[in-house]
Amino acid sequence: MALTGIQIFKLLPKTNCKECGVPTCLAFAMNLASGKAELDACPYVSDESREQLAEASAPPIRAVALGKGVRATKTGGETVLYRHEKTFYSPTPIAAMIGSDISESDLETKLNVWNAFQFERVGFNLRPELVALKDTGGDKDAFAAAAQTIAETSEFNLILMSEDAGVMAAGVEACKFKRPLIYAATEGNLDDFGALAKENDLPLAVKADSVEGLIPLTTKLDEMGLKDLVIDSGSREIQQSMKDQIVIRREALKSLNRALGFPTITFPCEMASNLDMETMIAAMHIAKYGGISVLSDFTGESLFPLLVERLNIFTDPQRPMTVTEGIYEIGTPDENSPILVTTNFALTYFIVSGEIEGSKVSTWLLIKDAEGLSVLTAWAAGKFSGDDVGMFVKKCGIMDKVKHTELVIPGYAAAIAGDVEEELPGWTITVGPREAAHIPAFLKSK
Ligand code: SF4
Repeated sequence: MALTGIQIFKLLPKTNCKECGVPTCLAFAMNLASGKAELDACPYVSDESREQLAEASAPPIRAVALGKGVRATKTGGETVLYRHEKTFYSPTPIAAMIGSDISESDLETKLNVWNAFQFERVGFNLRPELVALKDTGGDKDAFAAAAQTIAETSEFNLILMSEDAGVMAAGVEACKFKRPLIYAATEGNLDDFGALAKENDLPLAVKADSVEGLIPLTTKLDEMGLKDLVIDSGSREIQQSMKDQIVIRREALKSLNRALGFPTITFPCEMASNLDMETMIAAMHIAKYGGISVLSDFTGESLFPLLVERLNIFTDPQRPMTVTEGIYEIGTPDENSPILVTTNFALTYFIVSGEIEGSKVSTWLLIKDAEGLSVLTAWAAGKFSGDDVGMFVKKCGIMDKVKHTELVIPGYAAAIAGDVEEELPGWTITVGPREAAHIPAFLKSK
């Protein structure tokens, strides 16, 4: 049972020292109760109180670790309804389904094709994490063999799907070293599936035919000592599925209903008859509030937009994405190559570096830390001033790499040209294009 703010307050030191970032212990207690603060932010809580507060300080939605290796991921752990309130923490893991009656060679081919779906964007490798292996026909040997192949020959982690406890046990035995998600405990098999998950320390999905139907099941599993649960409200109709995701999220965050405080799993593959429609449903669930999304297949045109959407939804809106300050070589620049400077906003870097690459003119690109702001914003905020840029050029080491003394600054920062010149006596400061798209023509004309 979650504690109220006042109950938590009684367990805090009450010194109002402000070290947790809020003015009083009471304010901290209220934030803790509503999931907006973490207990570790107060260094003075006694061990005894810490133990009592453990439940209250846990995220209202359990974070569940899935899989092992490079595609290990987690789902849940969310603390807010709206991204702008804080951030969303756990990008929706994306899965595709395979039937256990697939031939060995087809499975190998599929895994190779799926493994190749990896996309580099703003410094991240975007890729799906999971394969959902579905028992077709109740052949436990075939199920176990396919699970073993997926676990041992691919980076993918697994969702094991069967209603038969014997088949599931065989699958678990074959791939438990990869921490698969067991799908799914239902009213009919709760004891068997709960025992299997507990014995092997694995996450367990729970399926009911409504949100309300989940509550007795998760409550019973909690009493059995199972904490890493993923919930499926059973709806395969788009509108109802959307409603269920919202109700579950609101219940967990606003009513602190621990019986629904788990990430969800959704099945666009069972809600549409073609991959285009599935992709749209998955996009809806990524935006609002699907924990894991299972498709019928992976294709580039379906996966790439979903991965990009996921990246955008799950980045912290309060922290712009950045790249590291420094000198970047685009192509094979030498002592005569042009020098361009811009800010460390990731999008600026990737657009500018992409245009330079496209120009085929080898270039030194200087990236100056401007706290992740774009050029115009950074200039307006005083984070990309002439003095700063000049100082950065002096200390970054570019002067040891070139013979010339010409620096190209962004067109949007033309106003700093005079100050840069003052800071870099003897240098020519050239104002470059405002738009990155004009960089190739600019470089080729030099
Ligand atoms: Fe109170 Fe701890 Fe915050 Fe200090 S750091 S104000 S003791 S809750």
